[in-house]
Amino acid sequence: MANIASADESAVATAQHELQEAGVRTVIGTVVNASGITLAKSVPLARLTAFHQSGMGAAPVWHVFTIDGGIAFTDTITTVGDMRLKIDISGLRVLPGGRAWAPGSLFEQDGAASPACARGLLADVGDRLDGAGYQALVGHELEFFLVAPDGSALENAPWVPYGATGLLDRSEFLEGLLSALNDAGLPVEQIHAEYGRNQFEFSLPPVPPVQAADTVVLSKIMVGISARAHGMQASFSPLPFTGTVGNGAHQHFSLHKNGLPLFSGGGGPHGIRDEGGAAIGGIIAGLPEIQGFLTGSVLSGRRLAPGTWSGAYLCWGLENREASVRFLNEGQSNPHGANVEVKIIDPSSNVYLASAAILALALDGIGGGRSLPAEIPGDPGRLSERGRQSANIRLLPDSPTAIIDTLDRSRLARGLLGDAIVDATVAVRRWEQRISAGLPPDELAGRFRLAWSI
Ligand code: GLU
Ligand code: MG
Repeated sequence: MANIASADESAVATAQHELQEAGVRTVIGTVVNASGITLAKSVPLARLTAFHQSGMGAAPVWHVFTIDGGIAFTDTITTVGDMRLKIDISGLRVLPGGRAWAPGSLFEQDGAASPACARGLLADVGDRLDGAGYQALVGHELEFFLVAPDGSALENAPWVPYGATGLLDRSEFLEGLLSALNDAGLPVEQIHAEYGRNQFEFSLPPVPPVQAADTVVLSKIMVGISARAHGMQASFSPLPFTGTVGNGAHQHFSLHKNGLPLFSGGGGPHGIRDEGGAAIGGIIAGLPEIQGFLTGSVLSGRRLAPGTWSGAYLCWGLENREASVRFLNEGQSNPHGANVEVKIIDPSSNVYLASAAILALALDGIGGGRSLPAEIPGDPGRLSERGRQSANIRLLPDSPTAIIDTLDRSRLARGLLGDAIVDATVAVRRWEQRISAGLPPDELAGRFRLAWSI
């Protein structure tokens, strides 16, 4: 025990020395709460050890701060009590401007993990996978709209979806972003102009789940820094503007057992092994119950229209962009190997929690020996209503009340992820529903356009 403690202390001392050499004066530690918003504490560099070991105080209501700055108290989350936000020094990264950042987790004062801490839950799901002999890798995609600092639309220059135009028009911003990410040791896989006007997307390479979610937070910070440097902001709302596409936050994952991939090399469709099929089966079966963790905000449902590649149809298919679960085959054009993309997720979700829910469903599917549902090879939107019915394809609900009521009632979600996180999520999302009642869609989109920005 003494050895572990002193090894830890020396790791912190080394990190502190390196940060000092890099000109860092302040360290920011972040957590993401049930509303999907990012909260932070910062300390002078000299307090790095304290930030890591004893942590900084955070009121329990941090879990339930809402997107309009309110507090959605629950029976157990009240004004009384205190938690500790401790940073994980293995995730420390240098930011521009004399700052460093590290991901944080929330603990009770006695050192136990806070049950509503999403990062802690994801680590726990990772342990459950490990315990059953599986390893997961997760790769995230980030979509965002560049907007004016007050959230209003940028000027109406020509826009070509997936065009080179946007890459040139915003080249200074993009260059700043890529070099900041590179300096922080975060290699971007690719970046492109998206379908929506002033919308961009970049993808991150697959890494273990907690680290992958951490890099999403870091990436959003870098997007925020780079956008500000060029007189802009970035919207990570599911639907920044009405009448056009929204922002997705797709997550790709793969699973291995004893070094063997579960999504290739087997006898099922596209080489999917039985356990890989069971994982996909578990996700399709459980997705409606945990949808509140993936698309739970008051704006989420408005993104989920067929024909917008948001994966609104509950089904799976090879390279099927209208399916909530898109399968990517192993092969020469896919250097990361076969993987599953959960397309339905949007960036108002808590990224840690969305991964935890998906991976927990996958493990549950494997544990229950589920079978792989029939593949849907084409766009379900091109089938007749009867055709969809006979293929057993349905649209996932887009009503915030229905999505959250289902989560609240879900024994599966409560069993897999715990009452604390379900109750906190239900509380903040119902708050959003209350404050938005009667708002016209345009006003709703405008009001919360920057709610999930950093
Ligand atoms: N913007 C779409 C969404 O809301 C995704 C487009 C794509 O497939 O890249 O999920
Ligand atoms: Mg995209």
